Amino acid sequence: ASTPRVALVTGTSSGIGAAVVRHFRDLGHQVLAVDFNPDGRQVAEAAGAAFFQADLTDGEACRAAVADALARFGRLDILVNNAGIQHVSPIEDFPEDQWRRIIDLMLTAPFLLTQAAWPSMREAGWGRIVNVASVHAQVASPGKAAYISAKHGMIGLTKTAALEGGGQGITANAICPAYVKTPLVDNQIADQARLHGMQEQQVVEEVMLKNAAVKRLIDPDEVASLVGYLASDAAGAVTGASWNIDLGWTAQ
Ligand code: NAD
Repeated sequence: ASTPRVALVTGTSSGIGAAVVRHFRDLGHQVLAVDFNPDGRQVAEAAGAAFFQADLTDGEACRAAVADALARFGRLDILVNNAGIQHVSPIEDFPEDQWRRIIDLMLTAPFLLTQAAWPSMREAGWGRIVNVASVHAQVASPGKAAYISAKHGMIGLTKTAALEGGGQGITANAICPAYVKTPLVDNQIADQARLHGMQEQQVVEEVMLKNAAVKRLIDPDEVASLVGYLASDAAGAVTGASWNIDLGWTAQ
């Protein structure tokens, strides 16, 4: 059995974040689920988690989310930076507002949440930061300049937090999944099918799983299990790592 902890998870209305909330509740952790989508309340409450509605592209909202966790539970032990969006466009046409929104949500918010959560973890002498990055933190694909830049940046943030947290009982790690079966990917399948004039099944097989050794999409629960491990006592020696869960994509 794992020690019950207090966790803040972002991007919890669907997909990986929702799976992480359920997994943490199964492990007996207290959880604050944070999302800008009000549907997240129902998802959180169904899993026995508390909910805080926040648009994490806003710095004040990031700080308010951590303050809410501290007010509710008195401490914060685990931070999972998971909220993310995608925009696909060649660099030449990439809209500046989309670039800024993606960097704000997927790089600046994880930084601000880490900063706000740090004092509680430092005082406890125990903390776990798990950043949900992507295989696109390791390699690029065309059309995803902002997403790939944010995810590569997240690896730098993770490594820095690992070095600063090393003497304070705080670990920081990144997870790098290939395609996970979530609404974010379902939308991309539809978009890419239109873009390439292909059937959706063809997009999955020929585009998304092109570089995969294991030819299937990843289940959100598989990612949640890895988050659970990295957030556990057992993972105290793992820090500054980028942990691939990518069907063998980057093995070649
Ligand atoms: P998802 O779309 O199912 O979930 C993303 C969540 O983020 C949603 O709940 C959404 O409401 C929330 N969100 C979006 N904008 C927000 C904002 N401004 N403020 C607060 N919350 C906001 O997506 P997912 O596939 O579960 O992705 C979760 C994370 O995993 C993302 O960081 C994504 O980049 C990463 N990832 C996903 C895949 C994949 O294949 N699905 C692969 C690698 C990495």
